[in-house]
Amino acid sequence: MSLTESGPTGYNITVDPASPAVPVDSPEIAEIIDLVTGEVRDAKDLIGSFRYDQLIAERVRMRENLKQEKPTHICALCGTPVYIVASLHKRFFFRHIHEDGSCRAQTRDGLTEEQIRARKYHGLRESEAHKRIKRLIERSLRADTAFFPETIQSEARWTDQHDSGAWRQPDVQARSAGRTYAFEAQLSTTFLDVVVSRRLFYREQGAMLVWVLGSFSPDYRRMTTDDLLFSNNSNVFVVDEETAAISEERHCFHLRCHFRRPFRLDDSIGECWDEAIVSIHDLLEDLKNQRLFHFDYDGEIRRLNEQSHQALREELISFWLAAMNPHFDGTPENVERWRQIRAQYSVIGIGLPENPSGDSSFRAMMHAVLSATYGRPVGWQFNQLIQVAHQLAQLHTEHLLAFGYALEKSGHKSLLESQDARGKWGRKRREFRPLIQARDARYMPDMKWLPALSFVFPEVGASVKGFLERLPATAE
Ligand SMILES: [Zn+2]
Repeated sequence: MSLTESGPTGYNITVDPASPAVPVDSPEIAEIIDLVTGEVRDAKDLIGSFRYDQLIAERVRMRENLKQEKPTHICALCGTPVYIVASLHKRFFFRHIHEDGSCRAQTRDGLTEEQIRARKYHGLRESEAHKRIKRLIERSLRADTAFFPETIQSEARWTDQHDSGAWRQPDVQARSAGRTYAFEAQLSTTFLDVVVSRRLFYREQGAMLVWVLGSFSPDYRRMTTDDLLFSNNSNVFVVDEETAAISEERHCFHLRCHFRRPFRLDDSIGECWDEAIVSIHDLLEDLKNQRLFHFDYDGEIRRLNEQSHQALREELISFWLAAMNPHFDGTPENVERWRQIRAQYSVIGIGLPENPSGDSSFRAMMHAVLSATYGRPVGWQFNQLIQVAHQLAQLHTEHLLAFGYALEKSGHKSLLESQDARGKWGRKRREFRPLIQARDARYMPDMKWLPALSFVFPEVGASVKGFLERLPATAE
């Protein structure tokens, strides 16, 4: 369809049927609710979305429905049914069927944003879309023998266990042997206040609140859908004719779940949408956070991150074992390999020196922790681990702490002691131990490389950090 540019249509009262319908500039009724789809629509946008000829046909249908007392569109503010009126210049706007002055559309300045939203929300609860979702939920519950039939209720009060004055009215509620559920159909203007206050209420009751949508399209999501989706481990639920039929056939409540699935994509993590039809009894529950999900998105992200982090650790260590003896063996291949390692670390926020030999503290840290871990000198061309210990005590006291923890974790402490035949190391150790305990600056770790240490050697890094956190304020 080709749309011709249409400014104010002015005095041309014969309109090309294929041109877009044009709304009046500032209609009194700014927003209307489509009771069939359950959408709040901007009146001007809605009118402008039709071709002129289609809008005329639509307005005839609207009037017919009104005659039969089956309104399809209501004013978003007062809930009064509306119909489409054409101006003399064939521009369009909505009008209430009863113009008795009770609508706040004319005086909306007096309403707060909050009140306006609350009114729209109320109007939407009457929509056919909302009723349809409720019916589908109830149908699915009744098909499921795990839910006690007498507990399945629609629009019934749910009184607070602790405060008989407080109550909610979930769209549908039901109880099984294991759990009490409140189901709420998501409306297009379910606003965050409502989502949050209900979540808190049902958590207090030890119940699970489940938000259910009538449909979901990944490419067309409202803010309100995203509020539900991303606070629910990136899972949202839909009931439709197909899921209700499956629920009846299997005597078990099934929902359609749309979720985000992360996956490995080269050096990063990609994501795609996925969906599945799942039994409510197989969903994972997190009552405390009021999360109910089929796919553990957060867990999968953690797993993928951990997987890629492990690969990054291994890559750096294998590089170190192969290319550092004790200085960097700068072949073109090694230079390129280091460049890539450094770039990958940079992505996760861990800085590495530009040249692996370029920072003597970093180099000594890697040599020291790897030597302790493997129980033999790594990097330095020594014969025994004890020589590494002496080297550190002489030149890199800032890494003695990490070296000590690495020995402990790898079980190479006694190996080191066995190499200290004349007790020289033992004596040295007795000298610097109190200095470390006193947090003498010379023995404190090099903070610049602590993030790298913690990443490549998580256990050693955690112990070093733990030691630093125990830093005494005035004592010792
Ligand atoms: Zn109104």
